[in-house]
Amino acid sequence: MFDWLIVGAGFAGSVLAERLASQRNERVMIIDRRPHIGGNAYDHLDAAGLLIHRYGPHIFHTNAQQVADYLSRFTSWRPYEHRVLAEVKRPGSGETLRVPIPINLDTINRLYGLSLTEAEVEAWMAARAEPVAEIRTSEDVVVGKVGRELYELFFRGYTRKQWALDPSELDRSVTARVPTRTNRDDRYFTDSFQAMPAEGYTKMFERMLAHPNITIRTGVDYRAIRDQVPHRKLIWTGPVDEYFGFRFGKLPYRSLRFEHQTLDQEWHQPVGTVNYPAEDVPYTRTSEYKHLTGQVHPRTSITTEYPSAEGDPYYPIPRPENQVLYKRYEALADATQDVWFVGRLATYRYYNMDQIVGQALATFQRIAAGVPRASAV
Ligand code: FAD
Ligand code: UDP
Repeated sequence: MFDWLIVGAGFAGSVLAERLASQRNERVMIIDRRPHIGGNAYDHLDAAGLLIHRYGPHIFHTNAQQVADYLSRFTSWRPYEHRVLAEVKRPGSGETLRVPIPINLDTINRLYGLSLTEAEVEAWMAARAEPVAEIRTSEDVVVGKVGRELYELFFRGYTRKQWALDPSELDRSVTARVPTRTNRDDRYFTDSFQAMPAEGYTKMFERMLAHPNITIRTGVDYRAIRDQVPHRKLIWTGPVDEYFGFRFGKLPYRSLRFEHQTLDQEWHQPVGTVNYPAEDVPYTRTSEYKHLTGQVHPRTSITTEYPSAEGDPYYPIPRPENQVLYKRYEALADATQDVWFVGRLATYRYYNMDQIVGQALATFQRIAAGVPRASAV
C-alpha cells in the first residue's frame, strides 16, 4: 500500500514526492507515461554527446530564494544569463538584421540607425505609443508601450504563429512576459538567480527521487495502473480536463514540434536563442545548447520550435473563455477528496519552472498542516 500515487514526474510531481518521502516518511509511487523522469525539463546526451533538452530550451531563473535554496540541495549550478536576438526586417529597406529582444536602447538605435540616449529613447517610444484606455490584451501591452510598427515587427507574427491567435485575442499576461527597456540591458530575464543545473535537469531529478520511500515507474499511463497500485491519496500533475474525462469539453492547450539537429560546426549562432517573429517563417525560435551548458565540443546541437495544434499539451492558452472553462474543472477538482491537482497542466497556469516548484512546496505545506483539500491550490 502506497500513501501516495503521484501522476507525472516533472517538477510538480517530483518536488512533492521528495517532500512527502523525506519529511513525512510516507511511501510514494511516482509514475509518468513518458519513458523518463523530469517532465518537460528532461535533458539527455544526444548521439554526439551534447546535452540537449528534448522538449525545448529550459532556462532556470527565479526571484524566489526559497526555490533556489530548495533545488540547490539536489544540484550545483552553472551561472548563465540568457540572451536572445530577434531576426527582423529593417522598416523601409527590408534588410534582415538581428537585434536584441526584449526591445532595448540598442534595438531601437540599430533598427533605425539612430544614436539615442536612454532619456531620448523614452520620449521616442512615448511618441509612438498608442493610447490604450485599458490594457486588456497582448496587443494592448505592446502598442501601448512602443507603438504599432515595433508591435508588428516583433510580436504580432510570433504570437500568431505560437498561439494560432491574434495578440488581440490573448490575455495581456502573455506578451507582458517580455518587457520593454530603455537601457542597454540585453538579458532575457532580470531575476536575482539565473543558472543552469551543472550536470543537467535529469541528474537533479534523479537526486530528488533517490529516496528509499520513492518507487518510480516510467512509461506507464495512470489509466493502465490506477487499479493495480493500492494507494490512499493521489497527486495529479497531468491535464486537469483529462482527469475528469473531458466532462465539460477539452481545455485548449498549445503544442510544439521540436526539430533537433547536430551540426558539423563548433557554433551556429551568437546567443542561446534566436527568435524569428516573421509570420512567413514557420518556426518561432532556434536555440543552441552549448551557450546554456558551457559544453566544449567541436560540433553543436540546436532545437527549432514549430508551433502546432497537435501533439503533447505544452501551453495553457490564457484567454477569458478558457479561464471560464478551467474554473468549472477547478470546482470539480476542489470537490474531489484525496486528489491534489498541482502543476502547469493540472492548474491550467502558464507557469515557469520556479513557479511550479513554489506551487508544489506550498501544496506540501498545506498537506503537512492538514489543511482540507478544498483550499489546496
Ligand atoms: P510537466 O513537466 O508537463 O510534467 C507533467 C508530467 O505528467 C509529464 O511528464 C506527463 O508525461 C505526465 N503525465 C500527464 N498525464 C499523465 C498520465 N495520465 N499518466 C502518466 N503520466 C502523465 N520554464 C522556465 O522556467 N524556463 C524556461 O526556459 C522554460 N522553457 C520552456 C520551453 C517550452 C518549450 C515549454 C513547453 C515550457 C517551458 N518552461 C520553462 C515551462 C516548464 O516546462 C514548466 O513550468 C514545468 O516543466 C512544468 O512542470 P509540471 O510538473 O507542472 O509539468
Ligand atoms: N513574444 C513575441 N515575440 C518574441 C518573444 C515573445 O511575440 O520575440 C510573445 C509571444 O506571444 C510569446 C510570449 O511573448 O508566446 C511569451 O514569450 P516567452 O519567450 O516567455 O515564451 P516561452 O519561453 O514561454 O515559450
